[in-house]
Amino acid sequence: MEEYLEKLKQKFHYGEELMNLLSHLIPAMITYYGKEYENMILEALLHCEIHFQEQNEKPKEYLNDYFGVNKDWKIPFLGGAFYQNEIFVKENQVMAKPILYLIRVYLHQYIPFDFQKEEHVNTLIHEICHLIKGYGKLKVVDGKIIDSTGLMKTVYTYTPEKGVQEEMDDHVGIEEAINEVDTIRIMEIMTGKKQEIYGYQRAGILAEYLLDYEDIAKVIKFSQFHDNENWIQYLGEENAKMLIENFDILVKSMYLSFSDINSEEKIKALHDKMDSAERKIYEFTQNYSKKEDIESSPKAL
Ligand SMILES: [Zn+2]
Repeated sequence: MEEYLEKLKQKFHYGEELMNLLSHLIPAMITYYGKEYENMILEALLHCEIHFQEQNEKPKEYLNDYFGVNKDWKIPFLGGAFYQNEIFVKENQVMAKPILYLIRVYLHQYIPFDFQKEEHVNTLIHEICHLIKGYGKLKVVDGKIIDSTGLMKTVYTYTPEKGVQEEMDDHVGIEEAINEVDTIRIMEIMTGKKQEIYGYQRAGILAEYLLDYEDIAKVIKFSQFHDNENWIQYLGEENAKMLIENFDILVKSMYLSFSDINSEEKIKALHDKMDSAERKIYEFTQNYSKKEDIESSPKAL
């Protein structure tokens, strides 16, 4: 591990504080995700730079320069960080280059990353979890480029005229919610104390209930790391669809802006929609029983 950390430090010129965090984080991630994913964790971090925005740095300029492109980036205003796996097509080959970018300027105010603040560390670990589950997942299926991280999938199309264009993304809400749980569980291993869900709160808490079932946690993790839909088959298409839809409602509502929900009725409608989504997932988690349990339970006459 010492040798690996040294290599990582040299490659990206990381500072002492980040290296110190990574030296605790990496073993905690291996404990949490499992020894079988150790290589994936190490490789993912070795192939993605973690970048903290500097005081006078404009994210759009930095990213265009970093990727050698000229794009109009949509920088998320929420969350404080993002993981971007930028797709390129060169000589008919599909490639990707990742970055983990931590926004440090909010409303013209520069707030340096504080490694002592659990909230800051939580944001960084959340993005690293996306990175790990997204490592080596790029593929081309039926002429479409598909990249995924965990259960989340993004589909891109490519034409020589328009280049690479994002077509759609899927399973965003459920993956974000589970990623929140991953983040606090990993932090609990690191700190030895109970952590609370920070981001995507309502969805994150429901994901905790879901992952409390060991069989569900296991099948979901397998699908996240092996990029398959076993979890959908396991839970049943209808249940999976219900979870996907309702986690999407809860997570995506956090990205709505005030101009989208600018009247009393719209606010009420949104709240009703979110309450209903929450109730449906909650009921599923309360009424769920493991498949074996159903089979082995005594049969009523
Ligand atoms: Zn996220």
